[in-house]
Amino acid sequence: MSSADASTFDLVILGGGSGGYACAFRAAELGLRVALIEKDKLGGTCLHRGCIPTKALLHAAEVADSAREGAKFGVHTTLESIDMAGVHAYKDGVIARLYKGLQGLATSHQVEFIEGEGRLTSPTEVTVGERTVTGSKVVLATGSYAKSIPGLTVGGRVMTSDEALSLDHVPERVVVLGGGVIGVEFASVFASFGAQVTVLEALPRLVPAEDEAISKQLERSFKKRKITVKTGTRIAGATDGDHAVTLDIEGGDPLEADLLLVAVGRGPVTDGLGYDEVGVAMDRGFVTTNERLETSVPGVYAVGDIVPGLQLAHRGFAQGIFVAEEIAGLQPAAINESGIPRVTYCEPEIASVGLTEQQAREIHGDAVETYDYNLGGNGKSQILGTQGFIKLVRTKDGPVLGVHMVGARMGEQIGEAQLIVGWEALPDDVAPLIHAHPTQNEALGEAHLALAGKPLHAHG
Ligand code: NAD
Repeated sequence: MSSADASTFDLVILGGGSGGYACAFRAAELGLRVALIEKDKLGGTCLHRGCIPTKALLHAAEVADSAREGAKFGVHTTLESIDMAGVHAYKDGVIARLYKGLQGLATSHQVEFIEGEGRLTSPTEVTVGERTVTGSKVVLATGSYAKSIPGLTVGGRVMTSDEALSLDHVPERVVVLGGGVIGVEFASVFASFGAQVTVLEALPRLVPAEDEAISKQLERSFKKRKITVKTGTRIAGATDGDHAVTLDIEGGDPLEADLLLVAVGRGPVTDGLGYDEVGVAMDRGFVTTNERLETSVPGVYAVGDIVPGLQLAHRGFAQGIFVAEEIAGLQPAAINESGIPRVTYCEPEIASVGLTEQQAREIHGDAVETYDYNLGGNGKSQILGTQGFIKLVRTKDGPVLGVHMVGARMGEQIGEAQLIVGWEALPDDVAPLIHAHPTQNEALGEAHLALAGKPLHAHG
């Protein structure tokens, strides 16, 4: 094979995270010759700096809570200490096993993995160092980075999730800037590990993208867990001194912390990669696409966190698979973004899919009906000792448009909820389906029974 052939592919993908590798594997399955270019490690943010490591920390946090609270269940345990080296060994072991599996999949799919920083130089070319890799089609999948705010420099005690993931100790006082998904997950971990935690959120409520009732319940639960929540709060600046970082709170007293975690959102990684020069249309750094995920440059596609919308790994996977099938000529159905499930793994967990009550009312006005099923009536939730609810949003006599859940382990309930919303089920369609007893899943069944006018363990 000549060197030109060795660098000529049907598909060249820039970025080996969830979106990029899903696209690569599916395209290879469909018989395309694929090159996957990655400057760091296959698996990207999700595997190495995001979903997987944070959920491992959250599991360690749950174990810490169980040890601390054993006596509640008549089991006398105490939490002696958190050994961060041990926590990291466990977390890194999980990552290492998944990483090995992923590398094996790249090999078995015969995807050409090219290590290095790629740069788009034409609609069909990406350069990596001295090498030019050519593809009939190109997919941009360069992901996102943790943002900060103007005037706040990351370093020392001021960290983003990237640095906070490998702390060698549990700080005494933690301030989390931003009460979105990353903010509440880390707040939850640090509180379980024994830190004093304060969350500062600029908007009037935690997790502002969720249904308002969920935010209220989370704030109540965090208060019980002694996590301080200050909403409607902004900082004017922060100084990292000898012993602590001091935050100037707009209109309030300064606050000292041993760690300031900045969790104010993630920005797209699109700067300096040649996208502009090749004419790829962008909006505030994000790559805009049509519903087939093709950019303004024909033959160049984009997937994952660089495409405006929910920055979630499973959206990236779905988009990657879609683009592979599109390029292979399978004409896949466009992705329905409104059906993408969302899970936030703080304690208590939040899981939601579809429209919030407010969004539904903006579309359907008074035709919207809601029902809250309190987990107080659910046997398994009582056994676990958790509080929370399932809120259903529907149009009167119409389908379920949104399911919003909060409570320990509720993330595991998202599967059925997304089928209900995705298939536009009526409460009456769900009501006759028997849910196993005693499970938390039963609460979903009961909520639909109640909405169908047949409450069993609920006040209709
Ligand atoms: P986010 O957008 O979810 O939350 C950022 C929060 O910071 C918002 O509530 C915002 O109002 C607040 N904020 C912004 N500027 C502020 C300021 N100056 N002072 C105080 N508050 C301020 O972003 P994130 O939590 O950083 O997460 C980034 C992305 O990663 C999100 O899209 C999220 O969905 C994704 N993610 C998902 C999961 C999951 O699915 N479990 C986990 C982690 C991250």
